[in-house]
Order: sequence, then structure tokens, then C-alpha cells
Amino acid sequence: LVMLTKKLIEIRTILMSIDQNDTLKLPSIVVIGSQSSGKSSVLEAIVGHEFLPKGADMVTRRPIELTLIHTPGVKEEYGEFPQLGLGKIRDFKEIQKTLVDLNRSVPDFMCVSDEPIELRVYSPHVPDLTLIDLPGYIQTTSNNQPESLKTKIEELCFSYIREPNIILAVCAANVDLANSPALRASRKADPLGLRTIGVVTKLDLVAPEVGTAILRNADYPLHLGYIGVVCKAPKHTEGNMTGALIRNEEAFFRHHLMYNQRDIHVGTSTLRFKLMSVLEQSMGKSLYSIVDAVQRELEEARYQFKVQYNDRRVTAESYVAETMDALKHNFKDFASHFGKPQVRHEVRSMLEQRILDICAEQYWSDPKIAELPKATTDDIYWLYKIDLASAALTKSGIGRSTTQLVVDILMKNMERLANSEPFTLHPTTRTQIMNFTSEVLRSRFLTTSDQVENTIKPYKYEVEVTDSEWADGVKRSIALLEREIEMCDKMAANIRSTIGKKKLKSAINYVLENERRQDQEKRLSETSGLSIVEEESDPDAPAIRPLYNPRLVEKAKEALFLRDRAMILKYRLAALKSRQCKSVDNKEYCPEAFLNVIAEKLTYTAVMFIQVELLNEFFFQFPREVDDRLVYQMNRKQILEFARENPPIRKHLELQERKMKLEEVMEKLNYLMRRQADRQAKPKQG
Ligand code: GDP
Repeated sequence: LVMLTKKLIEIRTILMSIDQNDTLKLPSIVVIGSQSSGKSSVLEAIVGHEFLPKGADMVTRRPIELTLIHTPGVKEEYGEFPQLGLGKIRDFKEIQKTLVDLNRSVPDFMCVSDEPIELRVYSPHVPDLTLIDLPGYIQTTSNNQPESLKTKIEELCFSYIREPNIILAVCAANVDLANSPALRASRKADPLGLRTIGVVTKLDLVAPEVGTAILRNADYPLHLGYIGVVCKAPKHTEGNMTGALIRNEEAFFRHHLMYNQRDIHVGTSTLRFKLMSVLEQSMGKSLYSIVDAVQRELEEARYQFKVQYNDRRVTAESYVAETMDALKHNFKDFASHFGKPQVRHEVRSMLEQRILDICAEQYWSDPKIAELPKATTDDIYWLYKIDLASAALTKSGIGRSTTQLVVDILMKNMERLANSEPFTLHPTTRTQIMNFTSEVLRSRFLTTSDQVENTIKPYKYEVEVTDSEWADGVKRSIALLEREIEMCDKMAANIRSTIGKKKLKSAINYVLENERRQDQEKRLSETSGLSIVEEESDPDAPAIRPLYNPRLVEKAKEALFLRDRAMILKYRLAALKSRQCKSVDNKEYCPEAFLNVIAEKLTYTAVMFIQVELLNEFFFQFPREVDDRLVYQMNRKQILEFARENPPIRKHLELQERKMKLEEVMEKLNYLMRRQADRQAKPKQG
């Protein structure tokens, strides 16, 4: 018979881990009673250990779902909190401490919580039972407890004493049974008293005549009857307290012969036995209905699994593997599209921008620029300038800036990969990917930039140019200037269209007028010896012009700048296209072309080493880092957590798990049903 309870408790544990609705409930014993009725003492007597939170300020704040598992083989008894994953706890003091902590985790303003604590106890000394300890009923609310607490506790207890649970109503013998909140509550949930067991504690505190009268239950009859106990162990009991407690109790009942009558039931051992047989019967009765319920749930789960996932199984492991493979695949795809030509293009663009800056600073703003194309007398001046300009390019920290450029592009692309589906759902992993990406790139940075800097060093002293290189340089510089002119025109047109032609024109006139005025004043002050500052600080000076909208002034200045730039660019473009720039011998008169030739050489050299030292290394290293740091590092728990971060996968896994567990439960139930059927068949044969 014991087998049934044991198996059904196993089944109950499985069902508890998947049940979302209340249909899959197997009976368990719910312990209720008012505070200090001796509820904890009774439970501890059944378990044989002190383990419940006690003390004046410590009341049960959360339901404790206590599963006792009779384990004949084990030497040491132990407890487990399956929700906490702390493993086996052999010291019951430790269990008590954990329960106290879990109790304390309920904030004071809540007082009680309906979130149960699961605790399993494995021992050769316990029967197979599931017991639920609930907060004790309180009579009056004390100062620091809110008025609603009483109702809150009553409601919590009421939700647990519903069918098919068995109610263990604990009452103290020295308190009138008519006042017992436990019995009152049980009568509400179980009016016929069919599933209520009355436990009368503290019989040692009343005279035997009173005690026996209560236990005969004439006033409040219960179908399952009353059992009297004395749950007070002698002081300072160590270790297994059952022995001492039971000896104490037995001595008490031996001493008071009145309790030794057929219709009176007393003693913790009797109680244990009663609980076992009542639970067993109740489980037996529930067997068929639970089989039905599980069958229905299983069919539904199977149907959903078929409809939603076409019976396709997933595992967290396969999800992790697929996700990481996709990442590596996307990475490979990026790597195959980001080779030398792409890097060269990026580096070249950067250097071209630099050429434009150098030319603007050193040539286009030079007042002598008009003489450049036909310069014959000032050769030294322009020769000196071209050396300066090429040094500005070759000595501008090419190693560092080109490496940084490529690193930035790589980081940006890796960010794109890490921010794509499904990594948006895995923020921790996304951060990890970015972290080791930047780590790998950082580790290659110095070597690469030093290598590049070293290999371009010769160009800082001398640049040899062949005719064809020169021709290419001229062509590219023409293209560059044309692009730049186009951009200037576009930007100017943009300003015109946003401001309006007329308005812009007047703003430009205003700016020009102002500039002229300032020029004049400057000259005047220089000749008269008056400083501008003094003049400006003269309070009587009349305002020169009405104030113009500063944004408009800004735009006008911009338009003027673009106009000037386009003008000089067109002028230089003509020069580059002229006969003079056809030969490398005239390089000092065609600085744009010469700088372009140098930039091309720098680009080639830099890219060659960036490719070897940075790109190849990174492309090789990254997939290995994915394996080492992500795939191989994850333990089973992390793999599950990772997979569950993805909601569709989580749903899939949950349904699959639910179906599997229901199948397991169904198998166990079928076995039990066969056994029950055999047992019922045997007596008939015999
Ligand atoms: P709970 O608040 O209902 O859990 O009650 P406890 O189990 O903590 O018991 C309240 C007090 O009653 C404690 O001081 C216990 O030692 C005492 N007590 C419990 N059972 C008995 C009993 O059978 N006899 C006597 N004399 N005291 C008991």
C-alpha cells in the first residue's frame, strides 16, 4: 500500500514543476492551527527534527510545502530546497536557518506571502507524506500588524484547505475547542468533516477527564477523528529528537490510564500512521481522476506540439550551437567581403581627405597661388613648399591613423553583427562578443601600427615616381577635385534652396559690406594710432548696422566659403589638366597630383601590413574566441538560460518539456493502475 503514496508523491513533484492551472492536483495534508497551538511541534515530531522557524517574533510567513520521502537506504538524513539549488543539507539547524531567511524575505508590509517554499526531507525515519505548513491563525492583530493581516492569513489558509487536500486541524487542549479557528475554517471547507483530522496538543496541560472528553469529539464530530499528542521533548535534546519526544509522550500516556481506552486515539506514532493511511486512501481515490486529468493535459500538449511545432524537437544545446554557427557564418560572410580592395578603398579615401586639407592650408590659401601655374622665377619657393606638403602627408602618423581606421570599421561591423537577431535577445552575450572583439583588436593594434609606420618610413625622405604612376596620380587628383567641386556646388545649392536666393544674396552683401568696413576701420586705426578696442568701448559710438539674424549670417559666410573654394578648385583643376602637369618634372607646380601619388604608395604599403598583422589575425581569431569564450564556457544551466532568453524558443522548450513530463507521469500512472487492478483481482481469484 505504501507504494502508492510514494509513487504519487513522485508524480506530484513532477506535476508541480509543470502545472500552470489547478487541474493536476494530488492530495496533500494541510496543517492549520492558531499561533502557539503547537502546530510546529507536531510537524517536527512527525519529521523527527527541529527545523521550523520559531521564536516570539518568528511566525511562518510563507506556506512551506514539505515533502517527506521515506528513503530506507540512506545513512544520513538530509533536506533539499529544490527552488534554491543548494544541494543536500544534512544539518537541520541549517535548514531552520534557511527557512528563517526565506521567511524574512517577505517584506514587513506584506506580512504573509502566498508564494510557497518547497522543502524535501529524505530519511529512513520519515513516512512518505506531503505536508503543507501554513501561517498560524491570529486572534487579535497586535500593534505592528495591520488589521488586514488576520483576513489575509485566513484567505491564504482557505485556498489550501480545498479538495482534495486533507486538513490537519491543530488545537490546544487547554483552549476551548469552540474557539478553535482551525476547526472553524475546516468546517467551512469540509462541512461533513470527511477529510479533517483533529489534532489535540498539550494534553499534559489539562486533566485526563477533560482530555478524553475532547478526544471523544462529541461536540464537533469528525469522520477521521481526533488524535491527542504531547509534543514536548525534555529540554536539551540533541540530534534525533523523536526518540526522546516519543519516550516522553509514551510515559505520559502510560501514566494516565484514562487515555488507554479503545475509542481514544493518542500518540505521535498513531498520528503518523493515521496520516499515512488517510493520505494513501485519499491518493487512491484521486488516482482515477488524476489519470483522467493527466490524460487530457497530455493530449492537449501533444496536439499543441504537433500544431505549433510539427513535432519538431529543440534542445537548448542545439539552439546555442545554431546561434553560434550563424554568428560565425555571418562573420565569415563579412570577412569574405572585407578584403584588401575594401580596406584600400577606405584608406585611400581617408588620405585623399588629408590631401585636400593639406592643399587648402598650404596652397589654396596662399596669396601667390595665382602665380603657380606659370611660375618660373620663384622655383625655390614652390620647391620648398612641395617638400613641406609631402612631409605633412608622410609624417602625419599614417601607421596609427590607418590602423585605427580599419579597427573602427571592424568594430562597427562587429557591432552590427552583435546587434542583429537573435543577439538582441541575449544582451550579456552581445556584450561578451564586443568585449573579446575589442580585446583581440587591441592586442594587434600596436604591432600593426608600428609595422605600417616602419614600412612607410622611406617615403618620408624620398618618393620616386615613374611616368605611369604620375599619370595615374594626375588622373586621380583631377577626379578628386571634380568630386570636391561637385560637393561644394551641391552644398551651395542646398543653402540657396533653404534660405531663398534673394535673402541669401542680401545676407551675403551684408557680410561683404561688414568685412569691408572692418578692413577700413583696421587700416584707419593703424594710421591714426587708435586701437579698435578703444573705439569699440566708446559708449557714444552709433550702432553700425542693424543686427542680422545670426543663423542667416552664418549661412551667408558658409555660402561665401563654398563659392571661394569652388573657384579655387576650378582654377586648380584647369592647371592639373594643362600641359604643365603632364610631366613629373613639374611636380612642384602640381602639388595635388604629387600628393596623390604619395598617398597611393602609402595606401599600398599600409594595407599590405594591415592585412597581414590585423585583418588575417582577427579573422582567424574571432571564430575561435566564439568557441572558447561562448560555446565551451557555458555549463548546462547557462545553456538553458541562454536558450530561454529567446521567447519563441522558451515557449517551444516549455511545451516540449511539459509534454515529456506528462508522458513520464502517464507512464507511472499506468503502472500504478495496473498494480491497483491486479490487487483488486487477486482476492477474487483466491
Ligand atoms: P505553533 O505556533 O502553533 O507552531 O506552536 P509551537 O509548536 O511553536 O508551540 C507553541 C508553544 O507550545 C511552544 O512553547 C511549545 O513548546 C509548546 N508546546 C507545543 N506542544 C506542546 C505540548 O504538547 N505540551 C506542552 N506543555 N507544550 C507544548
